[in-house]
Amino acid sequence: MKHFACGDIIPGCESTFTAPDDAGILAQTRRHAVEAHGMPEPGTDSDPLVLPAIRTV
Ligand SMILES: [Zn+2]
Repeated sequence: MKHFACGDIIPGCESTFTAPDDAGILAQTRRHAVEAHGMPEPGTDSDPLVLPAIRTV
């Protein structure tokens, strides 16, 4: 499984995400980036930040 903690790149955010693969994580973090962090739709601007911080668990 893959795991991503938003707080690793945005201090203070306590949201975490788990999915079978990177694509599953990105599907969630794109929506989170828009809804929680005000990124423009569709949130793909967050991909380069999220990808290096995804951990395999
Ligand atoms: Zn967040």
